[in-house]
Amino acid sequence: MLIQPKIVAVYTTEALILKTKDYGEADRILTVFTKDRGKIGAIAKGVRRMESRKGGNVDQLNYVLVSLAEGRDLHVVTEVESLASFHRLKNELNLAVLGYYVAELIDRFFADEQVCYSIFRSALMTLSRLDKRSSFLRKILALRLFELDLLEELGFNPQFRSCVICGLPIRHEGCVFDASQGGVICRDCAVGRRGGIAMELETLRLIRNLQSRAWNDVKRVHCLNAQLNQVGDSLKYYLEWLLERKFGSLELLSDISCLEKINGSVSL
Ligand SMILES: [Zn+2]
Repeated sequence: MLIQPKIVAVYTTEALILKTKDYGEADRILTVFTKDRGKIGAIAKGVRRMESRKGGNVDQLNYVLVSLAEGRDLHVVTEVESLASFHRLKNELNLAVLGYYVAELIDRFFADEQVCYSIFRSALMTLSRLDKRSSFLRKILALRLFELDLLEELGFNPQFRSCVICGLPIRHEGCVFDASQGGVICRDCAVGRRGGIAMELETLRLIRNLQSRAWNDVKRVHCLNAQLNQVGDSLKYYLEWLLERKFGSLELLSDISCLEKINGSVSL
């Protein structure tokens, strides 16, 4: 009887390399977020050998065009070409951790093979904004916009326009953002309730602005750094509540006191 050779399907797709781990003598295991197949585990064989042509292309946060042979557990990288490697971002630790955070959010929130073109595109846009020569504040705005994009796309868009209990618009200070309720609670409804974090009206206005505007408008938003920090704290609190765990890259960000740069009260 003639034995048919096993046919392995090979496909080519754009991908963002979310994380890498060295394996064996010369291989590297990758987690990639692909445009067409969602999040996938892959192995790049022999890439840590000096003579490997693929070596530099399979680094974390690279945007690549990759050909993959389908495997039972891990897909196998057959060809890889770097489309963007975000050098400026990677060469400065303060910026690199912001990039790692984008990758970590995708890795944590997406299941294997969950395809999401809008977040794929949003992640690449965010990395290129972090990589550009611009103020640190503008980069932080880009990051906040990505978090809000992600929440909206996954159906967790927090409600900041009106009270999630009584439905009335928020008009007075004293409101609370409660992750378990998915939004903000007005001063009156917050009486006697536990949990949540305090939120100032100005911070609420800023976060609503970020929720409803495109980047070209967002990057011109005028705000106090303290408010932008509070927006960051609120989103971090909500994202951590959703994932029930802390973000490693954000801990690192705090450790190197990177956020000191946006302390103070200077307008954008
Ligand atoms: Zn209320």
